[in-house]
Amino acid sequence: MNKRIAVIGGGFAGLSAACELAQAGCAVTVFEKNQSLGGRCRAFESNGFVFDMGPSWYWMPEVFEQFFQRFGSRVADHYELVRLDPSYQVVFEDGSTTEIPAGIPDLKSLLESWEPGAGQKLELFLEEARIKYEVGMGEFVWKPSVSIVEFFEWKILTQGLKLQLFGNMKAHLRKYFSHPKILKLLEFPVLFLGAKPGDTPALYSLMNYADIQLGTWYPMGGMAKIPEGMANVARKLGVDFRCGHEVQKIHVQGDRANAVVVDGTMHHFDAVIAAGDYHHVETRLLEKPFRNYSDDYWKSRTMAPSSLLYYVGLDQKIPGLKHHNLFFDRDFEVHAREIYDEPQWPSAPLFYACVPSVTDKSVAPEGMENLFLLIPVAPDMRSDEAIRDKYFDECIARLEKQTGVAIAPHVIYKRSYAHEDFMADYHSFKGNAYGLANTLSQTAFLKPKMKNKKVKNLYYAGQLTVPGPGVPPSIISGLVAADLCLKEMGIRSQNESIIPNEKRTRA
Ligand SMILES: Cc1cc2nc3c(=O)[nH]c(=O)nc-3n(C[C@H](O)[C@H](O)[C@H](O)COP(=O)(O)OP(=O)(O)OC[C@H]3O[C@@H](n4cnc5c(N)ncnc54)[C@H](O)[C@@H]3O)c2cc1C
Repeated sequence: MNKRIAVIGGGFAGLSAACELAQAGCAVTVFEKNQSLGGRCRAFESNGFVFDMGPSWYWMPEVFEQFFQRFGSRVADHYELVRLDPSYQVVFEDGSTTEIPAGIPDLKSLLESWEPGAGQKLELFLEEARIKYEVGMGEFVWKPSVSIVEFFEWKILTQGLKLQLFGNMKAHLRKYFSHPKILKLLEFPVLFLGAKPGDTPALYSLMNYADIQLGTWYPMGGMAKIPEGMANVARKLGVDFRCGHEVQKIHVQGDRANAVVVDGTMHHFDAVIAAGDYHHVETRLLEKPFRNYSDDYWKSRTMAPSSLLYYVGLDQKIPGLKHHNLFFDRDFEVHAREIYDEPQWPSAPLFYACVPSVTDKSVAPEGMENLFLLIPVAPDMRSDEAIRDKYFDECIARLEKQTGVAIAPHVIYKRSYAHEDFMADYHSFKGNAYGLANTLSQTAFLKPKMKNKKVKNLYYAGQLTVPGPGVPPSIISGLVAADLCLKEMGIRSQNESIIPNEKRTRA
């Protein structure tokens, strides 16, 4: 009889795990508490606008291509992917606006205009970042990191030396560049990782490679097209989706999870992949004796920032804005301190404005603009209407100043979203937006483990376990957890590799 697997959560990790398990012949049921799939990458429609609720940067396109190819289709079967050029634009503290070109020769000329010699140095910097990307994405992210022993293979050890785990991004960048605009530009991708550049391993210059070399892309119709495509793949493989059904408990008998409780009813399974927020699964779904981690462990974790978000519909176009706009027009050090060191509402925040209607007519009514605003903020805070209004007004004022266009009178739709919403919608620990910060002490086998130590057939997937936050890592996380489960159930041979294209690890 086919093994029956319960997957908790229909975000990227749950969807990818479900596909992998179903393709291997398991009978998979996905329980998702919300009415729609996609988790943090859901979309909603209002007044003719289609708003992506979370991620907006489509990076590392090969991860998506490899995912769909694994199940016999291609990205193009699910959505049209376009490369953005310029990749994004940045507003600096001196009020200047710079478009970041997609082509490397143009980017080199731009950097050269700021700092003589920086064009040449960019090549060297990117060459090193390429090695990290290829080793990191080709090998490390596919390790379940259940034990440090996985990293003891000679090949990995020697490659690992090139990854500069012990240097930090801040120092690494300063070995190449000194102009403040270049440093800001190259430090921006690590902000995604949720720690200050000085606390982020230099390994993560691989994100600069992803940004600059592999490019910024956009799926027409919006980011929610990605989980929609994945769910279609899963349905074809026979996955049973139960949306609007929250798992209330994982039932353990002896050292095995034998059922999940949903709507008060026990549903029996042979194994469970928990792809909801790790902390929620541990503290709400499992009895204390079966948990991997104590309350003190969670208290000691460094969380990535949460976000204060606004979904805004404007009844006119706003000239001067690109698809992605980074407002780095305030002091980053001050904002970072107010996120990480002395958590508080920011005094003068950096923010990000995404205008997908610049690229995609389908996300706003004719002649109108779809605007998404994101302010990174410390986790574990509370907001009221007054706070949310205050920051909204500030972002709009800065957008108006930059574009020279009145925007406030043209707001015809507005919805804000912050910690409380992350908690209500996703059971997010401390209202986090993208999981744990990628500091050295929270990397690879030092992250919350993918396997429960006491319950043999319970696995975790998603942005709080390996390899970490972000859409591509969450997709990979689901695949790796499913692979581990299949191998431990004896359905897949231990020797079978899950790495899509091993020859990429040529460094
Ligand atoms: C505002 C924002 C912007 C971001 N920007 C980017 C970006 O530009 N690019 C990028 O790559 N990444 C970005 N990220 C990160 C990326 O979106 C996440 O890392 C990724 O979506 C996490 O996927 P996941 O499957 O681990 O978790 P989730 O998306 O949270 O999915 C978990 C699912 O489990 C469900 N669930 C929880 N508990 C239960 C339960 N008891 N029963 C049933 N269901 C349950 C939840 O409802 C949820 O649907 C962003 C995230 C946010 C929030």
